[in-house]
Amino acid sequence: MLKGRCAIVTGSTSGIGLGIAEALATHGADVMLNGFGDAAEIDKLRTSLAETHGVRVSYSAADMSKQAEVDAMIAQATRELGSVDILVNNAGIQYTAPVEEFPLDRWDAILAINLSAAFWAIRAVLPQMKRRGWGRIINIASAHGLVASVHKAAYVAAKHGLLGLTKVVALETATTPVTCNAICPGWVLTPLVEKQIDDIANRQGLSRAAATEELLGEKQPSLEFATPAQIGALAVFLCSDAAAQIRGTAIPVDGGWTAQ
Ligand code: NAD
Repeated sequence: MLKGRCAIVTGSTSGIGLGIAEALATHGADVMLNGFGDAAEIDKLRTSLAETHGVRVSYSAADMSKQAEVDAMIAQATRELGSVDILVNNAGIQYTAPVEEFPLDRWDAILAINLSAAFWAIRAVLPQMKRRGWGRIINIASAHGLVASVHKAAYVAAKHGLLGLTKVVALETATTPVTCNAICPGWVLTPLVEKQIDDIANRQGLSRAAATEELLGEKQPSLEFATPAQIGALAVFLCSDAAAQIRGTAIPVDGGWTAQ
């Protein structure tokens, strides 16, 4: 279904981004991976994705907190894959602290990686998507783009901002074949959430299993994690013709979190 389409998935060396890259490759898209990690591991990942799905897979180590590196990643993907037809803004980080103790450098980093990077990348790819007459922009926001939690000032602000950016881009592209939407996951078991489970276990003196129950029980009525594969499948759907008139939406995959 996506044969001949080229995708960039930011932050795809792990977690949700990797799930999305795998889903897009499964449907025939060429993919540029991005993110941090061990160089040999990333190379193995790149080769195995390419061989398993018969697609081209390249990699950019661009740091999403730096605009020049985001621009260079878009240029590299365009050069190596021929175009950028699908942009998934997924890279993200988390830090928790009460607002009056929130470290200034963490605020800046979260705003840069979780929000500004999406703006920089969209700004760089939109002209070529419009010129070629097709494009899909998918922003990975969060349930925290729709509702708040304590101690997550920067993350909640960035994710709410990302939904605002999604709506503006959707309006500005409304009469074109380029769409822009956001996916709002609830809890997905990835390294980003493993760290929060460890924090609960340490803070409350709980086992990991009990801390996991506590984490899910507080927010996610299904009491089950969503999976990177489920987020990937939704991203593939948003790239389909069936989704051509889905524009400017924020789609929760959150086990009922934001229904409460
Ligand atoms: P993760 O920590 O497993 O993966 C994050 C990815 O981003 C990694 O590949 C990492 O190398 C990359 N990354 C981090 N900083 C980067 C930078 N400066 N430049 C380039 N790449 C960078 O996290 P995840 O849980 O898979 O999260 C992915 C996205 O989904 C994030 O935007 C996160 O906010 C969002 N999200 C996650 C959950 C969840 O429960 N896991 C819920 C809602 C939203």
